[in-house]
Amino acid sequence: KTVCVTGANGFIASWLVKLLLERGYTVKGTIRNAEKSKHLLNLPGASERLQLIEADLLKPGAFDSAVQGCDGVFHTASPFFYNVTDPDAELLDPAVKGTLNVLESCAKARTKKIVLTSSVAAVAYTPKRIGASVVDESFFSDIDLCRKEQRWYVLSKTLAELAAWDFVKEHNLNMVAVNPTMVLGPLLQACMNSSNELLLEYLNGTSKSFPNLAVGWVGVEDVALAHLLVYENPKSEGRYICNERVLHYGDFVSLLSKLYPQYPVVAKDADDSPRIPAHELSNEKLKNLGLTFRSLEEVVHETVACLKELKYLE
Ligand code: NDP
Repeated sequence: KTVCVTGANGFIASWLVKLLLERGYTVKGTIRNAEKSKHLLNLPGASERLQLIEADLLKPGAFDSAVQGCDGVFHTASPFFYNVTDPDAELLDPAVKGTLNVLESCAKARTKKIVLTSSVAAVAYTPKRIGASVVDESFFSDIDLCRKEQRWYVLSKTLAELAAWDFVKEHNLNMVAVNPTMVLGPLLQACMNSSNELLLEYLNGTSKSFPNLAVGWVGVEDVALAHLLVYENPKSEGRYICNERVLHYGDFVSLLSKLYPQYPVVAKDADDSPRIPAHELSNEKLKNLGLTFRSLEEVVHETVACLKELKYLE
């Protein structure tokens, strides 16, 4: 049982590698920077069954040796940040060309099953959401809207997933996608990641306002488990929205103030317009595969405990 995880040192991938090692897999993890990946070497089972391989998303053929000999490939590596100066170089190329680069290696190796870490960013950023009773896996984010509103990260995930589906169809490969919402949870790695940073900045008072948007929230351990469940289930197909709860940012901030009155949660509505109501996001497909989502409150508690331990919070 050998699998490859791309971007193995990342926030979500570290939990996935931990879970795969716990379940007896041999893992070939691709990384860019050995220094940022040291935490992986301390995971139980790592000394016997984890191999780290350097590979850059934009270097053709860089993933060939990592993917070779693997039954499955989890492609999680993709840049996730919002402040960009050159969207093509920083986000779109690594996401889209990088995904195709990994899939080229899978095609050469005839990988039996691929799990793509996509995002609900590739699902729900569409005007079709408004008025829909439930947003499910049939939705794709609107590329023109993303460009118009310069939602570069959302665009990168949407274009990458669409390109991946085209590629696997053409090359007759078996792929499933996991589409998580905003992922929170304890850090296994040393560096902060974008989604936990958001929580941190509300709690430490750095964020003074929040966008007029309702988004989904989910715990990192459930996201890792979702990847394993779709990989191991021979009947899994298509996309899997991975979400515990949709909350407007304003309600999320209220939840934080209620749970942590000791922190200076000061963020207010960014403008006076009425708050966009929370949409419903289906998580039935993953529930049907046996996933029971941890509550957002539990996930926030675990995350805050970790942020305190790592001295990000008092
Ligand atoms: P992290 O930033 O923690 O991890 C991103 C990973 O991608 C890192 O290993 C990073 O390597 C790697 N990477 C980025 N650019 C390149 C590149 N050019 N070449 C090789 N590797 C690269 O993010 P997350 O764990 O949060 O995200 C992992 C995946 O999950 C991404 O695909 C993201 O879009 C998706 N996702 C995340 C959500 C969230 O809320 N966190 C929600 C939905 C989806 P390095 O450390 O060297 O930079």
